[in-house]
Amino acid sequence: MSKNQQYVRFDKVDKSYDGKVLVVKDLNLDIAEGEFVTMLGPSGSGKTTCLMMLAGFETPTNGEIYLDSNPISNIPPHKRGIGMVFQNYALFPHMTVYENLAFPLKVRKIPKDEIDKKVDKVLSMVSLTGFEKRMPGQLSGGQQQRVAVARALVFDPKVVLMDEPLGALDKNLRESMQYEIKHIHESIGVTVVYVTHDQGEALTMSNRIAVFNDGKVQQLSSPDELYEAPVNSFVAEFIGENNTFSGEVVDVSKEKCKVKLNSGNEIIANPIRVKSNGEKTMVSLRPERAIINPEDKMDNKHKGKIEEVIYHGDHTRVRLNLLGNNEFILKIPNSSARMDIKVGNEIKVGWNSQDSRALDPKQ
Ligand code: ADP
Ligand code: MG
Repeated sequence: MSKNQQYVRFDKVDKSYDGKVLVVKDLNLDIAEGEFVTMLGPSGSGKTTCLMMLAGFETPTNGEIYLDSNPISNIPPHKRGIGMVFQNYALFPHMTVYENLAFPLKVRKIPKDEIDKKVDKVLSMVSLTGFEKRMPGQLSGGQQQRVAVARALVFDPKVVLMDEPLGALDKNLRESMQYEIKHIHESIGVTVVYVTHDQGEALTMSNRIAVFNDGKVQQLSSPDELYEAPVNSFVAEFIGENNTFSGEVVDVSKEKCKVKLNSGNEIIANPIRVKSNGEKTMVSLRPERAIINPEDKMDNKHKGKIEEVIYHGDHTRVRLNLLGNNEFILKIPNSSARMDIKVGNEIKVGWNSQDSRALDPKQ
């Protein structure tokens, strides 16, 4: 049986809390059955509001949400078959791990022997077999979040929602939990809608990422597409590191455009979101796409002055003043360390036009 490509469907959803300001605007988002989709964006961009509407704790102001092809506006939260892990959605502190996990099954009137089987299975999934009798207060933060993940999965939900579930954990633990959750998703194939403001987390875990800003989805793409082909300057700047140049299109063809920068220099770019001469644009270039001492055939070659050099273990970050931008970042792998990388030196830098993407300037 083929999977429902619109297993979760936000259809023209608006949300206003005060009847005036829309904090979610015309959200159209389809999530396939079994997919791991992350809503990524800065604080206040409307991510939690979207999850709350899907969970049933908030109602859309306009539009409809569908789950497995059924509109869910009139279905109360506990009947939607949705599991949840929230940073502030704590375990029941007075119940053991077993009781916490059995709870969602008891309310669904599952028989005791089946509850025991399901609890065993889900505990082994989160590597906590043997912890049944512990109280939450006797577990580390990471273990508690694993129990929370187990509790969201134990009743075989249609969808699991996770809102910044790793936000309270320290960096190393957070990274290992990212892989754990990703592997659990891969092994059971449940549909996951995940919320984070951490781009690394989103890139690591997701099949697709919806980048939110100001209540609107800016781009919905796979992690590599989002990184390699951001559609606008917000996405380009939010995901990964980015060098930018502002200017005006002076000559555009299908594959290339010439952009005259505010500094007066010209660069050759890839016309992603510009069509005609005279348009303002923001050109975006990933630091690792710029190289030192470019070959003659590269269509962008410019001299820059080194402003700062920072050693980063596996690579060196070099900040340049290039074409009037003194925040231009280069990343040089330390296997190719060079003597001439010193503050004050001038170096030649180049990149291919297709790597410098001419986008919509920021609104
Ligand atoms: P995010 O999760 O991306 O940080 P939220 O969905 O929490 O964003 O918030 C989006 C906007 O809606 C913010 O401006 C926030 O202040 C507002 N907001 C969120 N929840 C409520 C609420 N219960 N009542 C009124 N305004 C809210
Ligand atoms: Mg939030």
